[in-house]
Amino acid sequence: MTGPLTLRQKQSKFALMFAALLHQTDIMGYSVTLGEGYRSPEEAQRLAGLGKGIVNSLHCLRMAHDINLFKEGAYLTKSEDYEPLGIWWESQGGSWGGRFTRQDGNHFSLEHDNRK
Ligand SMILES: [Zn+2]
Repeated sequence: MTGPLTLRQKQSKFALMFAALLHQTDIMGYSVTLGEGYRSPEEAQRLAGLGKGIVNSLHCLRMAHDINLFKEGAYLTKSEDYEPLGIWWESQGGSWGGRFTRQDGNHFSLEHDNRK
């Protein structure tokens, strides 16, 4: 197979990368629950109007997923709490929301069309 991956192929690549991310949370001693995955365009529009997220969210393309981390029973709410996992995710080729101007530490995505 040659050439760049299509969006459809990247969606499957992201799904498998995300499975590895979930496993990695366990290896790193966190507990994890699932946050938002797919987001409809209508919901992205609504959230953007509230200053949360962007209209062109990768969630709408099934190329981003949010997670909730816990350590020793405590829910981790700060972006920096997610940095060790974010660094690991970046080492796998993913994009981590903790790097955004408006930090979004629990957001993990695979870049597509210069979107993260
Ligand atoms: Zn997100």
